[in-house]
Formats: sequence, C-alpha cells, structure tokens
Amino acid sequence: MKKPHEKLWENCLDFIKDNVSIQSYKTWFEPITPLKLKDKTLTIQVPSQFFYEWLEEHYIVLLKKTIKKQLGQEGKLEYSIVMENSANNKKPYTVKFPTSNRNVVKNQPLSMPIDVDKKVIKNPFIVPGLKKITVDSRLNPNYSFENFIEGDFNRLARSAGFAVAKKPGGTAFNPLLLYGGVGLGKTHLAHSIGIEIKKNNPSKTVLYVSSEKFTHQFIEAVRNNNQNDFIHFYQLMDVLIIDDVQFFAGKEKTQDVFFHIFNHLHQSGKQLILTSDKAPVELQGMEQRLLSRFKWGLSADLQSPDLESRIAILNKKMYNEGIELPKDVIEYIAYSITANIRELEGALISIIAQASLNKKAVTLDLTKQMIDKFVKNTAREVSIDYIQKVVCDYFDLSVEVMKSKTRKREIVQARQISMYFAKQLTKSSLANIGAHCGGKDHATVLHAFKTVNNLIETDKRFKGYVSDIEKRIVIQ
Ligand code: ADP
Ligand code: MG
Repeated sequence: MKKPHEKLWENCLDFIKDNVSIQSYKTWFEPITPLKLKDKTLTIQVPSQFFYEWLEEHYIVLLKKTIKKQLGQEGKLEYSIVMENSANNKKPYTVKFPTSNRNVVKNQPLSMPIDVDKKVIKNPFIVPGLKKITVDSRLNPNYSFENFIEGDFNRLARSAGFAVAKKPGGTAFNPLLLYGGVGLGKTHLAHSIGIEIKKNNPSKTVLYVSSEKFTHQFIEAVRNNNQNDFIHFYQLMDVLIIDDVQFFAGKEKTQDVFFHIFNHLHQSGKQLILTSDKAPVELQGMEQRLLSRFKWGLSADLQSPDLESRIAILNKKMYNEGIELPKDVIEYIAYSITANIRELEGALISIIAQASLNKKAVTLDLTKQMIDKFVKNTAREVSIDYIQKVVCDYFDLSVEVMKSKTRKREIVQARQISMYFAKQLTKSSLANIGAHCGGKDHATVLHAFKTVNNLIETDKRFKGYVSDIEKRIVIQ
C-alpha cells in the first residue's frame, strides 16, 4: 500500500511529466523523494541545495500549479535538502564537493574503470563448451541511460538503443550499428543498452568488448591453437557489444572469425550491437559479406550536440559530481566547445580541477582563461552565437528580437554590433554572418561594419558600449 504522500507525489509526477521534457523530468523530478504530507503541506526531499535552487528558479510555476491542483488552494510545498557540505549558502558559486571524499579529478567518468584484464575471459577457454557461464559483462555503470542526455542530435540512436534494451534480439534492429565521430557517445550508448538489459534480465549473458581487444584475443587464440574455444565462447553470448568495428578494417582473419560468430548469434536470435566511427558505406577494408550483414539491422548515427543539449550534458555532469557552477560559466563552456562531448567534459573537469587546486571560485574570467588554454590546439574561435548572446545580454534584448526584421534603433544597433564583432573575431564569411543575424546579405554586414567603425570614431558613448562588449566577449 502506498502512503498518502507517496500517492500524492505520484499524481504530481503524472502531471509534471506532461509539462516538461522527458530529460528535465528525469534530471529534476525523478530524484525527488516525497517525505510526508501534513496539513496540506507536502514535504519533498531534494538531493542538494543546488537542486533546490534549480527547481525554484525553473520550475516554481509548474510546481505551484501541480500542488494547487492536487491539494487545493491552501496546498503548500516544503523542501528538505540533503546537505552536502553544511549550509554555506553565502557563497553559492564556490565549487562544492559531495560529502563522500571522492576526488572529482581522479574520478572523472572519462576513463573506463573497467580494466580489461585477461583472467575473466580466459576461464571459458579453459573449460570450453560450458552451457551457462558467468561472464563479467565489462559494462561501465556510469554509462547508463540515466546519464545519457537525449537531444535531436542523438534521438534516433538513443531510441533504437532503448528499444533494443527492452527486447534484445526481438526487434528489427539487429545488428544495431551506432556510428558517428569521436566523443559523440557511441561507447556510452552501447554500454547503456548492455546495462539496461542486465538490469531487466540479470541471467542474460552480455559482453562488451572493443574490436581491438577482440582482435588481440583472437591472435592469442590462434597462437595457442584454441581458436575453437574462442569462437565457442563468443557464441555463448546473448548480447554481444563490439565497440569500434572500424578497427577490423584490413584484418581479414579477424573479420572471418567475427563473420562466423555474427552468423551464429544472429541465427539464434541473439542481439548484436556494434559501433563504428564511420557509416557502413564508408568503411574501407571491410569484407563485403560483413558489410552487408551490418545493414541487416539498423544503422543510426550520432551527431554533434546542439547548444541546449550541451548545456543539459554539463548540468547533468555537475549534478552527478555534486558540483555547482554559475550559469554564465556553464553557458560559456557550452557556447565555446561545440565539436564533441568528450571535449565538453574535459573542459568542465579542467575548470573544476583548476579552481579546486587553487582554492578559487569558478568565475567567468577563470573559465575564459581555461577554455582558451584548453582549446588552443583546436583553433578555437568565438562563435557568432556567443557574440550575439553577449551583445543581447548587454542591451537586455532577446536574441530572437535581435534577429527579427524590426528597424527599431536600439535593435538595429545591437544587430550591427553583433555583425561587427562577428566580422572581427570569427573567420565566417560576410554571407554567413548575415545569415546568422536574421537573414541579411553580405552587403548589409559590410555596411554594419562601416557604420560601427564610424560611430566608434564619432560617438563616445557608443565607443564605450563597444569596448564594454568586447571585454565581455574576448578572453582575457
Ligand atoms: P565515442 O565512443 O562516440 O567516442 P563516448 O561514448 O566515449 O564517445 O563519449 C565521450 C564522453 O561523453 C563520455 O564520457 C560520455 O559519458 C559522454 N557522453 C556522450 N554522449 C553523452 C550524452 N548523450 N549525455 C551525456 N554524456 C554523454
Ligand atoms: Mg568510443
């Protein structure tokens, strides 16, 4: 039997679910525990101060509505916060570590905690032909679906992965081939599927292996003359996840043995999940018969994350690490690092590490310096989007208004200043800058550039604006 407060919170969640994105729901509402209901006041427990502030800032209207709906006009909500550090509310922007003395730097989820050692795999080699074996799945628990942010950039792959996880071997997505550039989440998603399958069916034999590892094992097996054991072992899997199959390119013998394992598993209705850094058509050096099998199921690509997803990913990482950072810091990182998620995480971790080593708070200035260092090698330039954001923040306008057709003086001015900085600070063509600033042509951008230059010469106040804005955009 559910207690009244639990039932009530369940009803609240049903309503909330319909009103927020699934990602927000998972991040901000699922972790809440209802504690008690007394005199029309519902008490909920939230994991941290940061969490509470986030709810208050972003979801207060929704929460109020929900409570009133469930408890009537007198309904109230109280929070109970699991304290991380003591109440140092005065400095909400310093880096806080969770109570456990985990070292954030060491414990970054970037490295796989699963050290692939040979022992586990060897057992079945020694006792071949066993029907039920215990296999260490080699799944990284951090790479779960809960930690996997969904956005337009990865939606297809994520949904297909989730479907496969619910019904391994029982969907048309067999094999499921996840492909995309580095750091876009292929490995993470492949693990998520494995974790989910293990969660729902602990008895299923799931194995994650990199193609490299697979290849080495095979070479070793050939050398020790126990190839059959190797093949039998892999044929016992219910779910086989092979990461980075592009590594098989040009390795005919390995492809051959993989082909046999693939056929056996596929015919027995077992699930195969493969990842690759290229689309199947672009995989050079791969046997045709293997390539054609890759196409039997579904190939889903992962692309670069959009801005919103980048922010969501950073927020999720911080939440997992029990860290709070100012919103402008997160936005700056998300605006600056666009290529892939691994770099995004790397930047976040370097900033936190830097701040904690120097016992400094993470400020926007520190972030700018760090990002500059961090991305020097990748020839970073300020993005037009970021320029627009800074300009609009400065004049207290929304970016949409700035991009609209309006000819109001202040707005035209903001638009022209954005174009001016975009021309100065990015390598974008005039046409591209125009396209970013509300569909203008290159002549308009050039005109804006000249106008701003003229005004800087003639109008002191204007010159002040421009130099203020420049300071905010440019990394010090
Ligand atoms: P790939 O295998 O495509 O090179 P990874 O799966 O190793 O990329 O991802 C790189 C890093 O980014 C990992 O730490 C992973 O946890 C993180 N990551 C990738 N995709 C997401 C996502 N959608 N949400 C949250 N973190 C992600
Ligand atoms: Mg990978």
